[in-house]
Amino acid sequence: MMKRYLTFHKNNGISPYIWVILFILPFYFIFQLSTTVEMVIGIILTVLFFIFYRIAFFAKGWLVYLWTFILIGISATSTTLFSYVYFAFFLAHYIGNIKENPTFLILYFFHLISTSISINLGIVQQNPMFLQQLPFVIVIWIAVILLPFTIHNRNERGELEEKLEDANKRISELIVLEERQRIARDLHDTLGQKLSLIGLKSDLARKLINKNPEQSKQELKDVQQQARTALNEVRKMVSSMRGIRLQDEIPLVKEILAAAEIKYDGIDEVTLTNVSLLTENILSMCLKEAVTNTVKHSGATICSVTIEQTWKDIILTIHDNGTFKAPSMKGIQGNGLLGMRERLGFVNGNLDIKTDDGTTLVISVPIDVKQSE
Ligand code: ATP
Ligand code: MG
Repeated sequence: MMKRYLTFHKNNGISPYIWVILFILPFYFIFQLSTTVEMVIGIILTVLFFIFYRIAFFAKGWLVYLWTFILIGISATSTTLFSYVYFAFFLAHYIGNIKENPTFLILYFFHLISTSISINLGIVQQNPMFLQQLPFVIVIWIAVILLPFTIHNRNERGELEEKLEDANKRISELIVLEERQRIARDLHDTLGQKLSLIGLKSDLARKLINKNPEQSKQELKDVQQQARTALNEVRKMVSSMRGIRLQDEIPLVKEILAAAEIKYDGIDEVTLTNVSLLTENILSMCLKEAVTNTVKHSGATICSVTIEQTWKDIILTIHDNGTFKAPSMKGIQGNGLLGMRERLGFVNGNLDIKTDDGTTLVISVPIDVKQSE
């Protein structure tokens, strides 16, 4: 199918008043002409130009070339006949709106060459009317060089932005779908199996109640046990879906450190603004992993946790006064630090590990205005 070549833009960045002046201006030049015949030709050419210009916006395929060449012809004639160069401005705007790259470039250069030739002719012929408006002619010539590219690039950027927005929408839809499937899988694998087992066992217990009351009791005990584990699994699923906020992570961190007899020396309250739940979940995971590492590896006696928020980022620092055990950063075997880096990557965050004085993890996440959405 033939692609539509041209696009209209409601906001073309040029004030509508300038367009109105440019529509009226040709008639001023025409009425400066000496003979009536010339005036009539001028008026006809001007009216035709505007009609063809409008039609050209709907053209597709080779018609784009046809209309552009006709318009360039009219523009060149009016430049030579009544020193009116300003149609070139309309053409520059039209050519800038051509989407197809080869067509755009061919017509751009053709128009540039034809405008340059007709301007040069006007100068060579020492046409007084032409020389009078020379500064404006130069402005038009610069517009013919720059305007098409400005419009073309702006249109391309707009299109890319639209595509990006579509892709982002699609990604969010896929994330939701994936999450739904995960929940369905979890429900099936945990609750589904447990409930069917409960059904079977209670059925068996009912049948055995008179025949073998002892076994029936045992089956009922199993039912109770299964129901309890099912309930626990539901609780775990719900809390993992909710995600953990930093504020809720602090008491857990304190508990872990207290159990390992490591003194906690850090904040109790977390006050963050403009931070998405995703960022907070990731920071919570990082905090938990860092503190677990302190307990597991450091041999420290004090562990401190601070969170700072500046205008551009959030900085979470976890420091312990133990000794870093890994021989080198490259040969680290575990998944903890690696997982932290990967998760931080989702939110353009960064992890910096300092091991000169104990172990210090500096985690920074930029604040993006969009995060708050
Ligand atoms: P995993 O986290 O996968 O259970 P892990 O804790 O060994 O295993 P990482 O968390 O990636 O893996 O840590 C890598 C290594 O860095 C650790 O094995 C340990 O030697 C060292 N390390 C990390 N944090 C500390 C710390 N706070 N103090 C001392 N050594 C540390
Ligand atoms: Mg670890």
